Amino acid sequence: MRILVSNDDGYLAAGLAALADALRPLGEVTVVAPEQNHSGASNSLTLSRPLTVHRASNGFYFINGTPTDCVHVALTGLLDQRPDIVVSGINNGQNMGDDTIYSGTVAAAMEGYLFGVPSFAFSLVEHGQAFVHDAAHWAAHIVRRYVEAPLSAPFLLNVNLPNVPRDAVKGVQVTRLGKRHHAEPVVRAENPRGETIYWVGAAGGAKDAGPGTDFHATANNYVSVTPLQIDLTHVELLPAVTRWLQDQDQ
Ligand code: MN
Repeated sequence: MRILVSNDDGYLAAGLAALADALRPLGEVTVVAPEQNHSGASNSLTLSRPLTVHRASNGFYFINGTPTDCVHVALTGLLDQRPDIVVSGINNGQNMGDDTIYSGTVAAAMEGYLFGVPSFAFSLVEHGQAFVHDAAHWAAHIVRRYVEAPLSAPFLLNVNLPNVPRDAVKGVQVTRLGKRHHAEPVVRAENPRGETIYWVGAAGGAKDAGPGTDFHATANNYVSVTPLQIDLTHVELLPAVTRWLQDQDQ
């Protein structure tokens, strides 16, 4: 089993090393990660300049680009052989509900999925690294499940891991994405040159967080596994938009 590992927190992140270590017993692990933290990068590709690949002393490849760049370059030129799975994380912070739209962690896995490679994104729901090895234990548990009994269809699984010791985790729940309230307003300040600056505010709190959601599972100390898809077509709105445009024509 060839395993490509990436993340969005950068190649020096504790979650990346913990994940790579935990996956090594399951296959041949290659790490290709961004040189710098690109949290919130979503699916961006670097098109305005070339990318360079370097290798750290621990064997990790790092690229001066985004999470998506890393997986894209790995799959389309850097690696001699196509990986069997792409695994992203472990992110320092949750990627639940609407977070998945902005997440570089999810994007790295999504790039694998777009190329037809089964892919996993792992995130630890609270910032901090106290339980990163416990989270890596559970991440490896889920990947091992695939190694032992592969799911037939290509998939993209978004996994959020509760921030607790491994024995306090109650199990794994398959969930849907919850929803958040709107983000907090930007924080306005002044820089030393007297210019107004804006910091993007915090994500909104959970709004749809009932049973069955990722928010609910992790709040109850379950590992949350949400299968994601990419097609953004709003199928239910197709008839209404069609009627609306026809009305304009008359
Ligand atoms: Mn991140």
